[in-house]
Amino acid sequence: MSGSALYETFARVPLAFERGEGSWLITETGERYLDFAGGIAVNSLGHSHPHLVAALTEQAAKLWHVSNLYQIPGQSRLGERLAETSFADRVFFTNSGAEALECAIKTARRYQYVNGHPERFRVITFEGAFHGRTLATIAAGGQAKYLEGFGPKVEGFDQVAFDDIDAAEKLIGPETAAILLEPVQGEGGIRPFPTQSLKRLRQLCDKHGLLLIFDEVQCGVGRTGKLYAYEWAGVSPDLMAIAKGIGGGFPVGACLATEEAAKGMTAGVHGTTFGGNPLAMAVGNAVLDVLLEEGFLEEVSRKALLMKQGLAAVADEFPDVISEIRGTGLMLGVKCTMPNTKVNMALRDQKLLAVPAGENVLRLLPPLTTTDAEIQEALARIRAGAASLSKAAANGG
Ligand SMILES: *Cc1c(COP(=O)(O)O)cnc(C)c1O
Repeated sequence: MSGSALYETFARVPLAFERGEGSWLITETGERYLDFAGGIAVNSLGHSHPHLVAALTEQAAKLWHVSNLYQIPGQSRLGERLAETSFADRVFFTNSGAEALECAIKTARRYQYVNGHPERFRVITFEGAFHGRTLATIAAGGQAKYLEGFGPKVEGFDQVAFDDIDAAEKLIGPETAAILLEPVQGEGGIRPFPTQSLKRLRQLCDKHGLLLIFDEVQCGVGRTGKLYAYEWAGVSPDLMAIAKGIGGGFPVGACLATEEAAKGMTAGVHGTTFGGNPLAMAVGNAVLDVLLEEGFLEEVSRKALLMKQGLAAVADEFPDVISEIRGTGLMLGVKCTMPNTKVNMALRDQKLLAVPAGENVLRLLPPLTTTDAEIQEALARIRAGAASLSKAAANGG
């Protein structure tokens, strides 16, 4: 149980869960935690969703893996469904978010290459971004703490301050291929780009022949109350990475592209062993079955409002603990007045799970299937946690 053979890369909490039911995680000793961390926006339909369990076990009894040497009907079907419900025409499946980003970056570079611009390979990104932990995606994210000690930063990523569209425009040069951003930064602290900024970036890309890449690994797949966060702004990208929520807990990612953007990705130029395998595709299709049900996303928005209003009331009551509530849909951020890790621990004491993020924010990413009663329960626990912190602070400690 000590996990001593594992890399020490994660500062793990001394908690192990044995099973999950909807919005709840249950420890080996039977303690129940309300899971508003959702595996960091992964468990989009909660734990042990019957439709997902059935899809996975049915597929598991038939076929696990064949490789992309053969037709995979579930993959063709999920690809078509993702295309039909988005801006995209083409899809490449991966196992993770970072790989979906790698595919998007490669697709953008390749697009410029086949258009006769091999010199255009640079990508403009924004401070506070998180795009994954591969060598290229840490360079794209640009965070010093993730780059340190891993050798020369992968060439071709230029960063500007969050939402500084003027700076992005100035940085566009003869080598620029694309602009990459999360419409709502997750790790960065639940920071949405204003609609106006997304519109300007679209215009800049069109004007300069660049591709606009959205990283919706965290904010996509229903999280904000639309299938994709970009829909709120009415601004479509040329390329988009998704992952987390589309697998509902099974590792799946995808790079979505317009026909034009994907035109350089011809036979043999890119590949994957595991990406799009039958198990992952069965689950991805099952997640979409639920998300695309009539009224499901409207329900997400309705519940999100309930949650956000309740959080605002707690923030009003305890300004010495919480200074601000941010976010859209069930991707909410509680900006803390005291260290977010301290607030996170106080909530854990109340058996409510959340996730810290940048800018001293605590993220609440409940399953999209969470109920009104669970939201009320979470709010009661957050209030209790805030009250205990507020009291402790008033007593000098
Ligand atoms: C989690 C995340 C990634 C990386 O996904 P992995 O599956 O961990 O590789 C990339 N971008 C965003 C916005 C994320 O939240």
